[in-house]
Amino acid sequence: MTNLKRWLPQLLLAITLPFLAVPTAKSTERALPCSHEGRFHQLPEGLDVDSANRIWCWMKRELGAPLALSPPPVFVGPLGSNNYSVFVFPTAQTPDNAFSIEIGSNTMRYEDPLFVLWALGHELAHVLFTLRPYGFVEQMTYPRISAFTQHCDPEFRRITRGAADVIWNIFHSSQQRSRMFALDRERYGRECAFLSNTIRQQKGS
Ligand SMILES: [Zn+2]
Repeated sequence: MTNLKRWLPQLLLAITLPFLAVPTAKSTERALPCSHEGRFHQLPEGLDVDSANRIWCWMKRELGAPLALSPPPVFVGPLGSNNYSVFVFPTAQTPDNAFSIEIGSNTMRYEDPLFVLWALGHELAHVLFTLRPYGFVEQMTYPRISAFTQHCDPEFRRITRGAADVIWNIFHSSQQRSRMFALDRERYGRECAFLSNTIRQQKGS
């Protein structure tokens, strides 16, 4: 009985702890191969910095980008109802656009935090695919790249689906991963069918 009394508080703590644990990527974040300067240090409230760093680091390794490459700044702002997030970059026509990512305020307010992380990962893929032709060196302006063209590149889709796996490895939410894959299939499947039809028609004319 005395023994049980002594162990009871510890036993209760051990039972309660898993319920108190808040999922973050902190425990594994230290093991990231990406150096300090190549990481996010601050993100809008609601976005987990450590998970974002895991996604960003994984993508850089997959695409052969320098591991010290800094991520762009991330802002929250009002976006059209069709957009969860956007990648903004300067072009000859809009040279004042800051190279950055914007997450819709409605996305932040109404979506699951894991889904918001994936939306950020999607834009980070745009960042890397836009920089890659320039050896990952930031330019003053970029040609007006059609998002469609990047979305329909099989490698782009491998990378964004991979981001869903990175998130799954941290949080193990199969429900959210299914949602990411469903959106990937539904939205980009439609876009890519449209793109390939357009290319076929152009070739035919
Ligand atoms: Zn996109």
